[in-house]
Amino acid sequence: MSNSPQSLTNLAARVAELEAERELTLQFAQTDALTGLVNRGAFTTGLIERIEKAQENDGSVALFIIDLDRFKVLNDTLGHHAGDQLLAELGQRLRDEARPGDLVARLGGDEFALITSDHDISVRAQRLISLLSLPQTIYGRTVVPGGSVGVAVYPRDAHDIVDLQRFADMALYRAKTLGGRRFSIFDAELRDESLRRRTLEDELRRAIPAGEIEPWFQPIIDSMTGRMVGVEVLARWRHPEQGLLAPAAFVPMAEELGLIGAIDEAIFEAACARTAPWVADGLIEVVSCNVSPRDLMDPAFSRKLIGRLAKTALPATALTVEITETFLLQDMALARRHIERLASRGINVALDDFGTGYSNLRALMHLPIKTVKLDRSLIDDVGRDARVSKLVASMLHAARSLGVRIIAEGVEHESQALFLRAAGCDRMQGYFFARPMPAEAMEQKLREADSPAPRLAATG
Ligand code: C2E
Ligand code: CA
Ligand code: CA
Repeated sequence: MSNSPQSLTNLAARVAELEAERELTLQFAQTDALTGLVNRGAFTTGLIERIEKAQENDGSVALFIIDLDRFKVLNDTLGHHAGDQLLAELGQRLRDEARPGDLVARLGGDEFALITSDHDISVRAQRLISLLSLPQTIYGRTVVPGGSVGVAVYPRDAHDIVDLQRFADMALYRAKTLGGRRFSIFDAELRDESLRRRTLEDELRRAIPAGEIEPWFQPIIDSMTGRMVGVEVLARWRHPEQGLLAPAAFVPMAEELGLIGAIDEAIFEAACARTAPWVADGLIEVVSCNVSPRDLMDPAFSRKLIGRLAKTALPATALTVEITETFLLQDMALARRHIERLASRGINVALDDFGTGYSNLRALMHLPIKTVKLDRSLIDDVGRDARVSKLVASMLHAARSLGVRIIAEGVEHESQALFLRAAGCDRMQGYFFARPMPAEAMEQKLREADSPAPRLAATG
């Protein structure tokens, strides 16, 4: 081992080299490749550091979350390369806008963030909006991106980084629902909303084991005979204070909180128990259950469902599982596995909300899906708007030639029912026939319909 000045210099040089390399790797790991801004990981670290510093010297930190308003549309119409170029250009503009000490990050997709001090918040937010509204030339085409901004401030609004981000997101969401191209700052109104939501979240967690979520039923009608041939199972939450809540008030929240699986399971078990006697007595043939796309992401979903069904008295051939087209498109391979596994046991799979997405009937040809539910948005205009009527009629025609059964949803008027029947729609469902109802009411209705109509007593 030599300790000559020469080798020490070499060593020092090597250490410096390694340091620089480490620095570079670190930088690379923290940088978003497309825009050169810091990425989500580095953003989180930066936010924590700034909040800690603010704690030490009684300072404050403002978090701006920035989101483009119609990026998906731009991306779809101009192509991914153009979309990328747009994002890179916006990243540059945001960087130019930063003041010393600010941190600008790309959080992912078309979402950016600015961490800055608590000064001139409105002025700065408005500048960001103007900046995002400047026209840009991408591959010779002029586009005007436009975006929205949500702001929350530490410690005024939130005491930790989780709440700070949640509140900035809530403000952003409000700016978007107000039409976009604007900013919104977290305030008392949003604080109330967040508290209400927190409470409802806690209540929902308790509601499932407490049995407050119950199945309701809506009849499915045979178009030709007008008879009830099945029921769709729809979840309701019997909230102790707020009364009966529809799925819109709790299903999206349950999906976000990861509770939807437990809800669907509870509804499924209760519904099977209620409906098995109806099927056994020949009152209905079909029990149709909704499952969330979240459930379907679980590769074991179909196996678990088959297992749960086996513990009930409901025959597999009476069960229909309703899945949405969005899930089909999300993960075609997994969807196929589930559908084939269910079909192999005689369980029917129906495609729900058809007509709201890509509505590709041909895609069905390669899957064992024999039932499609036409969405209410299409049925609304049937018989009223000539183009929609024509579209629905041709969908019905195509479905028939593919051997697919169509159920029309949301039939509210007799005119719709008549049109659909004439166009060859097999089954219908909607307020015109019956609204969703609790199990007891459904059972009574089915048994009444089953007993022969009261006739005049024979005379003589
Ligand atoms: P969906 O599967 O499309 O269910 C049909 C919805 O349309 C039901 O709303 C039903 O009450 C309503 N509806 C039926 N006929 C008519 C009509 O003639 N006019 C109008 N305006 N509406 C009609 P609901 O019960 O509020 O359910 C909303 C959505 O919540 C369902 O849409 C379904 O996607 C979801 N959902 C319901 N129950 C469950 C469940 O147990 N699990 C999961 N994951 N989702 C569920
Ligand atoms: Ca459904
Ligand atoms: Ca539907």
